[in-house]
Amino acid sequence: MLGYILLGLAALAALLLLAAAVNAARMKAKPAAGKPAISWTQEEAALDAERLSAMIRVQTLSKKPGEDMADFRELQQVMRRLFPRAFAAAEVVDLDGSLLLRWKGRDSSRSVVLMGHQDVVPATEPGWKFPPFAGTVDEGKIYGRGAIDCKGTLMTELAAMEELMTEGFEPAVDVYIASSANEEISGGGATATAKHMEEKGVRPELILDEGGVVTTGFFPGLSGQCAVVGVTEKGFINIKVTAKSRGGHSSTPPRHNPVARLAAFVNDMERARPFKKAYSPAVKRMFASLAPALSFPMRLLFGNLWLFGPLVKLLLPSASAYGEAMLATTFCFTMCEGSPAPNVIPAEASMLCNLRCIAHQDMDETVALFKKKAQKHDLGVEVITGRGSSMLADLDGKAFRYLSACVRACVPGATVTPYMMMGGTDCREYEGLSSGCLRFSPIRASSAQINSAHSVDENVDVASLIEAHKFYRYLIENYE
Ligand SMILES: [Zn+2]
Repeated sequence: MLGYILLGLAALAALLLLAAAVNAARMKAKPAAGKPAISWTQEEAALDAERLSAMIRVQTLSKKPGEDMADFRELQQVMRRLFPRAFAAAEVVDLDGSLLLRWKGRDSSRSVVLMGHQDVVPATEPGWKFPPFAGTVDEGKIYGRGAIDCKGTLMTELAAMEELMTEGFEPAVDVYIASSANEEISGGGATATAKHMEEKGVRPELILDEGGVVTTGFFPGLSGQCAVVGVTEKGFINIKVTAKSRGGHSSTPPRHNPVARLAAFVNDMERARPFKKAYSPAVKRMFASLAPALSFPMRLLFGNLWLFGPLVKLLLPSASAYGEAMLATTFCFTMCEGSPAPNVIPAEASMLCNLRCIAHQDMDETVALFKKKAQKHDLGVEVITGRGSSMLADLDGKAFRYLSACVRACVPGATVTPYMMMGGTDCREYEGLSSGCLRFSPIRASSAQINSAHSVDENVDVASLIEAHKFYRYLIENYE
């Protein structure tokens, strides 16, 4: 009897595997079809490179409203000179240095918004190949702070608008360019702009901000170009954990030293990794979109979550930090403080933990879990600041479908995938206005170039810039 049961189970397992393998074999990506719908000349590419260089040369380090905005005024003068028609023909609203350009279309009850911030982070890292605010063009690349984050995006959006205006094109709907002056410090520029639009009753169908790019090697086993579109952002919580003691001289230390209790707690958390692992809709859709372009073993796994879901969930966190971050709230202890002298037992020792919160576990539950673990080690817990995860864009809505169609037309053969962003963008401030908040710049960038943002040798390819410019042009021109 047992023999028959085992045989039956083995047959069932073989059948399931066969079904998964057939499924994986059938979903293989088709080879790239046709020529790109966009093209350009070398002169146009060189002009865009010069434009970006000029914008990089103005050091627009993030400023809060009320601070001296001279650098931003200078950048805006540069942009007015580079894109005279766009700034003359569009209605320009200036909100403490954050700009909103509105190009009226045939139907002003509808609109799309392109975003890209003007501010940059400092460039104090040693070892830059070229001065970070020189905008040097070298071997087909433009170097400088803001090249990829985010002046390249802003420049190409403006270039598309300028070009179409020059040709006398009239867009089907209103086209906005929204450019905050303080994205990098969450300084409120995007909030003010979104509020302004809300007051005017603007409900954009598509809002396209920075986030993902066109890249390769985004996922293990993935072949070809991939357009990675951010569709939601994780939230965050900063929690301070405190251990108290009576203090005293370190020559006669009692047990339960506060630093030891903190250390035990950190180890406990690292071992337990207590937050709930689950496939969010964005991650599920990402695997489904990527699967056809993956190598066979990966396609078998990620294309058959109905069968391998539990196994993938088990393996992914150990495979990569990003893999774990996709499935659960993560935590990272980042700051710590003890006693002020080498021979003093701290009366209070503390640490700061930065958690990145996933939508399927709410903040109260997250803090409660954290607290429970901390209390075991006699630690106090204080939430310093935080915010929940952003809304999920409509993955079946017009915005995502249209952007995907633009990618297919302009970068034939590229895989388009939604993804969950671990960091924040200005876009979240607009989510009350639209279910089509997407985070994607149509710029081709290698992983080294992506990592150069906020780091040394930030750079972008000249060829990628002109391609992005023509992509935005295509997007505006064909929007119905
Ligand atoms: Zn940015």
